[in-house]
Amino acid sequence: MLHTYHARIIFYNALLMVFLISILAYTHIYSRNVIIEEAEIYSLNLSNLLRSNIEMEKEKLLHYTGVVRDDLIIQEYMFITTEINGEKEALWSLYRRNFGWLPVQRTAFIANDGKAIIGDEHSDLIQVINARTDDASEGTFYFQGKENFERVTWARIYFQGAPRGIVALTHPLDRAWLERHRFFGGYYLLIDDSGRISLSNLPGAEGRQFQPDNGLITIDKRAYHVRAIPLGDTDEESNRLWLAISEQELLDKLAHNSDLILLLALVGGTAILITGLLIIRNFNRPLQQLMQITQAVADGELPKLQKSSETNEINALLNRFAEMLTALRSKQAEIERVHRKLEENAITDALTGLYNRRHLTDLFPKLLAQARRERKWLCGLLLDLDYFKRINDEHGHPAGDRCLTHAGELLRELSRASDYIFRIGGEEFLVLSINDSAEGALVLAEKIRRAFEVKECKTDDPVIPMTTSIGVSCAEAGYPAKQALSNLLSQTDKALYRAKALGRNRVVAFKEIEETTLS
Ligand code: GH3
Ligand code: MG
Ligand code: MG
Repeated sequence: MLHTYHARIIFYNALLMVFLISILAYTHIYSRNVIIEEAEIYSLNLSNLLRSNIEMEKEKLLHYTGVVRDDLIIQEYMFITTEINGEKEALWSLYRRNFGWLPVQRTAFIANDGKAIIGDEHSDLIQVINARTDDASEGTFYFQGKENFERVTWARIYFQGAPRGIVALTHPLDRAWLERHRFFGGYYLLIDDSGRISLSNLPGAEGRQFQPDNGLITIDKRAYHVRAIPLGDTDEESNRLWLAISEQELLDKLAHNSDLILLLALVGGTAILITGLLIIRNFNRPLQQLMQITQAVADGELPKLQKSSETNEINALLNRFAEMLTALRSKQAEIERVHRKLEENAITDALTGLYNRRHLTDLFPKLLAQARRERKWLCGLLLDLDYFKRINDEHGHPAGDRCLTHAGELLRELSRASDYIFRIGGEEFLVLSINDSAEGALVLAEKIRRAFEVKECKTDDPVIPMTTSIGVSCAEAGYPAKQALSNLLSQTDKALYRAKALGRNRVVAFKEIEETTLS
């Protein structure tokens, strides 16, 4: 595993992605906790705020009630009205004159016998006050009035040390009250005697039965966390007002956050992936190129490598490699050139450029095989220049050399492309020629003899006439190449010897000697 850089880069990228996703997942979980905790704190703070506000309102109403109770003229009018059957109207107009400004919903004055002096139209209120006042001198409670839920505060009025009746003031917990408290946030639910939601700023909640399950209610398929805001001392009063926090709104917030987190993960992941791919592309391509080239070099090639204009390290390495390959290529070309030259020198004669004797041994078996394949004759023409020593003696060695070159040129001119010409001695030449018949070789030999005779050797000195004697023989069947060559050379030599003996400048076939010898 991870043997290649490619694999490693992919592996490290994957690690980076896992790392990023872990961070995001942690953030996601953490943010969820934060939101849940925040919601808890939020709802607690809200309920505390609301409670203290309600407490303040209650204190204010109690204070107003106390002010009415402590008014001496009110006390006196209560006495007059209840004890000496005075006019209710006088008390009512006195009250309206002095306390009409009080911000209350309903006002009631009740005599000691429980009958209403003022506010007898508020029978529901009178009834509930009579049921709750007992022996205490003042108090406060909540109840569901005819129109709305109300806060009631009451105080006993005394005159000359004796109780004369009760004054009660009420505050409405109505829609206007709800609106005033809206800025605190959240939703409010007021529960009536039958356990129904009688008033609420939560859409669709009013008129429903209030049955919280594990601190949750569901309205229109949406869940709300509810928390009671205690109003008074009794359980019944304490469970009248509830604060509701929408779970969906919290989850929406969380969902919004998690969408953001998901987006962040996607963008981050994609960025890492693209970076990884770019790294792979940038590093891997030149590396791959280098690997291919080194493999090619190892296989004995010297491929051409395009230089890159980019200046980074890997490309610099590639460029140096390209320079190295160019240098190696020119060195190799030089070596090949020298090698070819050496090879040529090894098989050719420096003076005439013809093949040398060593090459004859190499070439002969191939030519013999070819002739046998084609069912033709491989014939040899052995030439020895006549009286050559004399040319050297008379015109000098350089002139002799010039005449040897001339002889080579003549042989080249006269032979066919398929003939092979060798300089096998000082002024001795051998022409190997593949012919349809032995006569073909004799024809060629005669042509050569005649050309030597006609075309004289031209030097700086006057023109030098030059002739040659030629012995001709063809290889016999049934011998291995080495033996065949040795036979051919000895036969042509014999024929050549005969040509010399017969007076030179002539062609003698080995067959003729055999025939004369036999006859
Ligand atoms: P013939 O063959 O007709 O009997 O007489 P010849 O004078 O040619 O005798 P032979 O073939 O024995 O002599 C060969 C002479 O060729 C001897 C030598 O002076 C000369 N020779 C051999 N090699 C070279 C060479 O490379 N350059 C020159 N200039 N002369 C050479
Ligand atoms: Mg000779
Ligand atoms: Mg000679």
